[in-house]
Amino acid sequence: MAEKRDYYEVLGVGKGATKDEIKKAYRKKAIEFHPDKNPGNKEAEDKFKEAAEAYEVLSNDDKRARYDRFGHAGMGGAAGGHAGGFTMEDIFSQFGDIFGGHFGGFGGFGRSSRGGGGRPRQRGADLRVKVKLTLSEIANGTEKKIKVNKYTGCPTCGGSGAEGSGGKQTCATCGGSGYVMQVVNSFFGRAQMQQVCPTCGGEGEIITHKCKACGGEGVVRDDEVITIKIPAGVAEGMQLSLSGKGNAARHGGIPGDLLVVVEEEKHPELVRDGNDIIYSLNLSIPTAILGATVEIPTIDGKVKIKIDPGTQPGKILRLRGKGLPDVNGYERGDLLVVVNVYVPKNISRDERNAIEKMASSPNFEPDPKEGGSFFEKIRGYFN
Ligand SMILES: [Zn+2]
Ligand SMILES: [Zn+2]
Repeated sequence: MAEKRDYYEVLGVGKGATKDEIKKAYRKKAIEFHPDKNPGNKEAEDKFKEAAEAYEVLSNDDKRARYDRFGHAGMGGAAGGHAGGFTMEDIFSQFGDIFGGHFGGFGGFGRSSRGGGGRPRQRGADLRVKVKLTLSEIANGTEKKIKVNKYTGCPTCGGSGAEGSGGKQTCATCGGSGYVMQVVNSFFGRAQMQQVCPTCGGEGEIITHKCKACGGEGVVRDDEVITIKIPAGVAEGMQLSLSGKGNAARHGGIPGDLLVVVEEEKHPELVRDGNDIIYSLNLSIPTAILGATVEIPTIDGKVKIKIDPGTQPGKILRLRGKGLPDVNGYERGDLLVVVNVYVPKNISRDERNAIEKMASSPNFEPDPKEGGSFFEKIRGYFN
């Protein structure tokens, strides 16, 4: 395949397109390149798939944000999309609603999918779970064990749904192929389409004696403890996909995926900014004037840093590499310590006298240049 085209370009929309515009643009492309309108045209089929892939990403807020940030590189791997692996059936079953419901129709338990030709197989529904991670877990990567209540293969019938080996018969409607031909009135006029057999749901077989343990479904609900490896550097809202760890499918089909959505636990003192960490350090007036060694929190525990005499509020101390690792690379963010000076609200009479004495000293006269540089610093760091 040639170089991957930009998804916005594929759909012919701008970067700021609304969801509705994206949907409309996709619908237009899907109609233009639909296989029913372009029989045997390989180029149209590729374009049809390309548009579906672009739509899958741009119609999903998480995926779109990721794509905007990282481009195609951000779509592969753990949190990626289909990465060009779309089959025609995927497209109809996922985006069938956009065509007005005439396509797809593989209903039942989750989606169906046709694994390498032959009968369509049921696909179990995806499961979505959230994991809450502390900054320290995000910094170092972690393993989480979570209990998931889901459909698993029935242990009594081995997932077939039939009781014993003679509990199934070949489907008379489709002769075991799982498909029937049907004339449908679609968006594009009348068309003959291969449809999943309504009698057997595409399985080619009918269960005559149902397994008593699962009622013929081939699946039962059960708890499973799943270990999830979380890579270092993940962020709020990122989604990891564990293939085949979702719900089991009926009658021994393909299990769905487990989608793990990352949630960040708020740190009491540290704030994340991309891969950097920000800490707001409150100094007393004497410490800012005289300097000192102070203790500050980091992701990995407390460290001591030196405060120079005469440190100004707004000064930012950068501790290189004390931030978070990049989920896609080797770089590591920094810890930015933003200095603030605490001004007491209540003071005693003696303190007031002492400060009034100091106020007349030229050393306490503000330096106009310091004020300007403060804004420069803020602009440099937070834009
Ligand atoms: Zn069973
Ligand atoms: Zn059938």
